[in-house]
Amino acid sequence: MTTLSDVRMAEIEQKAGSMLTENQVERLPVRPDWLAERAGIKVSQKPLEGIKQGDYDGNVISIDVNLGPRQKRYVTAHELGHAVLEHKGRNACDTAASQTTEEREADWFAKALLLPRGSLGDAVERYRGKQVTAFQNLVEFVSSIFEVEERIAYERLKECGHL
Ligand SMILES: [Zn+2]
Repeated sequence: MTTLSDVRMAEIEQKAGSMLTENQVERLPVRPDWLAERAGIKVSQKPLEGIKQGDYDGNVISIDVNLGPRQKRYVTAHELGHAVLEHKGRNACDTAASQTTEEREADWFAKALLLPRGSLGDAVERYRGKQVTAFQNLVEFVSSIFEVEERIAYERLKECGHL
């Protein structure tokens, strides 16, 4: 299992942050398909073979049309990560592929893009300050406002030291 260095993780987080700043993204949830188009990358939805969820061929991001809306958002952000991080070659992404360095980098980028550290901190504060009451727990709340699967919300909260 490959792990990313702290330096590399900070660098990737910085790239995701720049993309949000340069495109003046202020509202949640972040829209990765819109950001891809702004970067000149077409996003296409179609049935993909086997367990593949998405791929990036250097020009076009393809997303499995059968994924749920939150999965689509995450896979789009992940593929955008491959593009922004200039990963060479074709990236065919499935859950089993996530062990390689490039897959881990794209995952880290996706989480940094969809759940920006500052906004996540604000959300945690609102939740802990009891300003929101309609949710079972912090993971459910974060998952709802950032429109990501609970698994991703949990990972990001943990990685940012909130859990
Ligand atoms: Zn990938």
